[in-house]
Amino acid sequence: MSPTELSTVTVMEDMTNLGRHALKGEKVTFDARVNSISTAGAAGQLVLGLRVQQALLRAIVSSHDIGEAAWDKARKLTPESIVRVAGPIRLLHGEKASHDTDTAYAVEVTSLTVIGQASPNLPSFHRSSSSTSPPLALETRLDNRILDVRNAATGAIFKLHSGMCQLIVEFLCSHGFHWIHTPRIISATISGDNEYFSLPYFGREAWLAQSSQHHKQMALSMDMERVFEIGPVFRAEVKSSASARHMTEFTVLDIGMAFRDDYREVMGLIEEMLVFVFRGLQERRQYRQLIEVARGLYPSAGRFRVGLDEQGRVPRVSFLEAKRILREELGVETDDGKNFTDQEEAALGRHFRASSHLGQTDIFTIDQYPASMRQFNSKASAEGPGLSNAWDTVVGGREICSGSHRINSYDELCEAMRNNPCGPPLDPDAQKWQAYLTAFKAGMPQHGGCGLGVNRLLQGFLGLDDVREVTLFPRDVNRMAP
Ligand code: ATP
Repeated sequence: MSPTELSTVTVMEDMTNLGRHALKGEKVTFDARVNSISTAGAAGQLVLGLRVQQALLRAIVSSHDIGEAAWDKARKLTPESIVRVAGPIRLLHGEKASHDTDTAYAVEVTSLTVIGQASPNLPSFHRSSSSTSPPLALETRLDNRILDVRNAATGAIFKLHSGMCQLIVEFLCSHGFHWIHTPRIISATISGDNEYFSLPYFGREAWLAQSSQHHKQMALSMDMERVFEIGPVFRAEVKSSASARHMTEFTVLDIGMAFRDDYREVMGLIEEMLVFVFRGLQERRQYRQLIEVARGLYPSAGRFRVGLDEQGRVPRVSFLEAKRILREELGVETDDGKNFTDQEEAALGRHFRASSHLGQTDIFTIDQYPASMRQFNSKASAEGPGLSNAWDTVVGGREICSGSHRINSYDELCEAMRNNPCGPPLDPDAQKWQAYLTAFKAGMPQHGGCGLGVNRLLQGFLGLDDVREVTLFPRDVNRMAP
């Protein structure tokens, strides 16, 4: 290509383009955000710091090169405005601007168009990887989420989120799953559970769904066999005011699946999906690049380990064995009659990551939970009294997924409701349960399923402390905007 020919560079798609064009001193045209503006150069000259995703460029703009009308607009430019510039690009060698040490390229601008003018005095959220100033508080960043996510490392998190969902869909659709959509407005709640949001509904009572589990089961009774859904659920979690893993609205991957002989067929398939997703993120070029960009600000990104056991599966441990490990190997005082605390889950996470006999892994499954800690419709276990065929998957030291073998017999389910092991008795004759129970009266296949927090999945994969880091517009007790 001759130096006078125009080529359009989309830097984020292929960073190497920029270097290649710069090496040849070619003329390029591209859109960029204005990062900084300096009038310190010669009279009639502006030096713009430009940003295209994670790439920083210096643009030298002279009034006599771009014409009077464009110069007039250039002089009024503000940081965060979008400009289209054209001009020959070159590599900066020993002449990097001291205030912007990441800048590697300079463009002698021959044409400049203002595409989107930003208001003056916007707060600055751009942080280069070489920045030495302390990180901004998450609340401040969330208050200014739009500017915050323009930061390439933060933006990379949400592109990875998209990639993660695509990999989930790719795996499930290639394993015979059907993508369904179930309602968020529901008419029956589980008594004793105070975490429903109620809403006025034409003079009647209605609530926002906490999970899609019951409708998903109904779909299995429709002979859909394998179904999934990715969507929002709502929980009035008071603890979301202080918890780094709870929000009031979050995204759940709900999976339901009929099985033939054993509920562990369901568990195994979900584990296989998680390995596929993690490996996809770690191995596919576009996601590897995004992880690298994210590492600029989030050093824990890219450290995730997928360790498998001798059978090539995600390592598994029973609930009671996990309690034993905590007590005997980690010296943690723990009660077998209580669920794991956040600290216990984190301690187990560190232990699995460090222990070669456990797979040196950041993902493992805890199976055979006590029935008292699970929903009324979890199937009782044949492996020990008071246990159920229910599991949690732990990723990066936090529960990200709860699954179980669900009761499929109508009579057994009614019995489990009356003798609810995990809350007050439920009345299967109550009107509010009839829509759900109809699916069982009609004959339900043997099945299992899970609810998997998509936000927590990415949080665990990237090793971030707060789930709101990986949630574009988080909602909690204190936050309803932006
Ligand atoms: P926890 O014990 O952490 O409160 P849970 O046992 O109530 O979670 P489930 O009802 O099993 O969670 O929900 C399935 C998944 O949804 C969880 O494994 C988690 O990944 C996610 N999840 C649950 N509650 C929240 C929340 N408030 N905010 C974000 N994700 C959540």
